[in-house]
Amino acid sequence: MDDFVNRRARQAVFSLQPYIPGKPIEEVKRELGLNDIIKLASNENPLGPSPLAMQAMEKAVRDIHLYPDANSYYLKEGLASFTGLDAAGIVLGNGSDEVLMILGLTFLNPGDEVIYADPTFVEYEFTALVMGANCVKVPLKDYRHDLPGILQAVTEKTKMIVICNPNNPTGTIVSEQELDDFMQDVPGDVLVVFDEAYSEYVESPEYCSGSKYLQQGRNVIILHTFSKIFGLAGLRIGYGLTRPEIAAAMRMATYPFNMNSAAQAAGRAALDDQEHIRRSRELNAAGKRYLYAELERMGINYIKTESNFILLDTGRASHEVFQELLQLGVIVRNCASYGYKTCIRVTVGTSEENQRFIRELGKILGVE
Ligand SMILES: *Cc1c(COP(=O)(O)O)cnc(C)c1O
Repeated sequence: MDDFVNRRARQAVFSLQPYIPGKPIEEVKRELGLNDIIKLASNENPLGPSPLAMQAMEKAVRDIHLYPDANSYYLKEGLASFTGLDAAGIVLGNGSDEVLMILGLTFLNPGDEVIYADPTFVEYEFTALVMGANCVKVPLKDYRHDLPGILQAVTEKTKMIVICNPNNPTGTIVSEQELDDFMQDVPGDVLVVFDEAYSEYVESPEYCSGSKYLQQGRNVIILHTFSKIFGLAGLRIGYGLTRPEIAAAMRMATYPFNMNSAAQAAGRAALDDQEHIRRSRELNAAGKRYLYAELERMGINYIKTESNFILLDTGRASHEVFQELLQLGVIVRNCASYGYKTCIRVTVGTSEENQRFIRELGKILGVE
C-alpha cells in the first residue's frame, strides 16, 4: 500500500470494498468476442426509456452550455403532483445512491450505528462505512426482513435504520401490519429509511409504502429511483421524500448542480408517461409468471418476488453458473457476495430474453 495514502487518507476509506456492478454488455463483447448478448444483471427496464423522456432530453441537450436549474423546479413540481406530497420535502440526487450519500453526510458521525438487513442492497453499507459509522446487520428470516430482530438491535447509538422494501436481492416485502408494529416501537429519534426502488412492481395487496408514516409526521425518508421502472438508469435520477425540515438540512449537505439538465428534463417527462409505466409493469408481471412456470418445470427453487428480478438456487457453485451463462451471452448476477453461494439473481426481461435465459440455464444445469 502506498505510504502517502496510508498516512494521509481517512481511516474509513480502508474499510471499503469496491462495488461490483453488473457486467456491461460492451465489456462482455470485448472480453469474450460475443455479439448477441443480453443483460439481466442490473434490474433495468427491458422496454428501455420512455419515448417522452427521450424527446425531452433531446430538447434539453440544445441548452447544455447553460448551468442546470440548481433547484430542479419542474422536476420537483412534477414529483410533488406525482406523489401528492409537498415539493419542499423532496431531495433529489444523482441516483438514489447519491441521496443515500447525502443522508450519510447530513446525519452520520463516526461511531453512529446504522442497522439494515443481511443480505440487502450493498450501498447502505458503503454509506455507513465511508462516514466512519458502524454497520449492524440483522439476518433475513426465511428471506424476509426480521423487523422484531431489527428493533432488538437498536441501541443509544442507532442513528438510522434502512429497510429495502421490496428487498434486493430477495424480492420479498414486509407487510403493512408488520411495518405498523415496527413503527410503533421504533424510537422517534432514529431515522427510518425506506428504499422503495422496486415499489412500482409490487403485486401483493399486503404492501404498504413508508410514505404513510411520513404523512403521520414521523422521522422517515422514502427513497425512489428513475433507474428501474422509469428506464433511466444511465441518467442517474433518484429522490427522497421526507419532512421539509429534514430535506432542508440534507440540501445544505448537497453540492450545487448535482442534477444535470438532461436528467431534470427527462425525469419530468417520464412522470407523465403513464402508458410506459403500465406497459413495463404488465411485461414484468407476465415475465414473472413465465419464469416461475419454467423454473418449476425444471425443478429449480426460487423465491417468489414482488420485484423485477428473481433469486434462484442453481444447486451449483453460483460463480460457475454465472461464468457459463456469460459464455453463452447471458449476463446475470452472481449472488455469492450476498452469502448465497449457489444462487443467481436474474432480471425479468422481454419474453424473448426470458426464453433465452431459460434455454441457456437448462443447458448448463442439464434439465432441458
Ligand atoms: C437499483 C437500486 C437502487 C437505484 O439506485 P440508483 O442510484 O437510483 O440507480 C436503489 N436501491 C436499490 C435497492 C436498488 O436495487
